[in-house]
Amino acid sequence: MTAAAWRPWIRGAKRLTLWWFAALFDRRSWFAGCRLILAGVAIGVIASYGALRIYRVVLVSEKRLPKPVVEAPVGMAWVEVLTTGYCPCAICCGIFSDGRTAINRSVEKFPFGIAVEPKLVPYRTMVDVPGYGLAMVDDTGGAMRQSGAKKIVHFDLRFQTHGQAWQWGRRWMYVALPQQGLRHC
Ligand SMILES: [Zn+2]
Repeated sequence: MTAAAWRPWIRGAKRLTLWWFAALFDRRSWFAGCRLILAGVAIGVIASYGALRIYRVVLVSEKRLPKPVVEAPVGMAWVEVLTTGYCPCAICCGIFSDGRTAINRSVEKFPFGIAVEPKLVPYRTMVDVPGYGLAMVDDTGGAMRQSGAKKIVHFDLRFQTHGQAWQWGRRWMYVALPQQGLRHC
């Protein structure tokens, strides 16, 4: 089809679109209202479809995390974990937080530590988290238990300020965990 042949179709589509959205300026008839609602629903469906595709791309790329090519140290196993950050502030820990971790360690004395679902990784396990450092599993939280229920090992890393925790964000990584006591594998 030539460009000239398309012209009436394009003009028709334009007129239909204009007529459809004319309800914006004419709110008197119930039909005009229905047209507007339908247009809104259509836009919503298209937008959420797009969002879902982006979401899938993110999920798939996270799932393709390469496993370390080197063997884990003796007695350890590579475990894929989701890491996030938290700090002792009211936003992260609630206004009733007493500044003590789940195993009663003071966050002032121990500014760094890891919160995990203790059913997956027991308390007092020392873990070397790449980019964070060597720290002890000494705390837990609702989000870790929820992730644990979905078979996700979730580490919440303790930082001194909210900004640092925010900056860490959300990272998937392989962490070497001692096989003894590990209830994940
Ligand atoms: Zn915080």
